[in-house]
Amino acid sequence: MEQTLSIIKPDAVAKNVVGKILDRFETAGLRIAATKKIQLSRAEAEAFYAVHAQRPFFGELVEFMISGPVVVSVLEGENAMTKNRDLMGATNPKEAEAGTIRADFAESIDANAVHGSDSLENASIEINFFFAQKDIC
Ligand code: ATP
Ligand code: MG
Repeated sequence: MEQTLSIIKPDAVAKNVVGKILDRFETAGLRIAATKKIQLSRAEAEAFYAVHAQRPFFGELVEFMISGPVVVSVLEGENAMTKNRDLMGATNPKEAEAGTIRADFAESIDANAVHGSDSLENASIEINFFFAQKDIC
C-alpha cells in the first residue's frame, strides 16, 4: 500500500479546519496511518524545504511554516501520493480546481493550506523526516 506525507500548514490550522481537511482524505479512501500536531523550528523548516533553498521565496516559505503549529500525517492507500495531490489542487489557490482543498481553504500561493509529497521517493524521505516506523500503523 502506498504512503505519502501531508502537512496541514499554519494558515489552515489557525482557521480551525484541521478536521475538515482530514475528512477530505478519509472520504477519498485514504487512511491516516499516523498524525501529530507540531510547531516546527526554523532549522526543521529549512531542512524540510532544503530543495527550495535557492528559490526566491525560500525565506518567506520558512517564515510562514514556523508562524504557527502544523499537522503532519502519513496517508495510506491506493495511489496515495497522486490522490493526495489531486485532493490538494494547484499550488496557487486561485488556479486550484473547485472542490479541492486549496480552492476551498487557502488564500494565497504562500498560505496554501496543505503540503503533499510530490513523488514516492520524496514521500519516503518526508515520512522519515517526521515519523519513526513504530509510530506508523
Ligand atoms: P508543497 O510542496 O507545499 O506541497 P507544491 O508542491 O504545490 O506545494 P512547490 O513548488 O513544491 O509547490 O512549492 C513549495 C511551497 O512553496 C508551495 O506550497 C508554496 O507554499 C510555496 N511557493 C511556491 N511558489 C511560490 C511563490 N512563487 N511565491 C511564494 N511561495 C511559493
Ligand atoms: Mg512541493
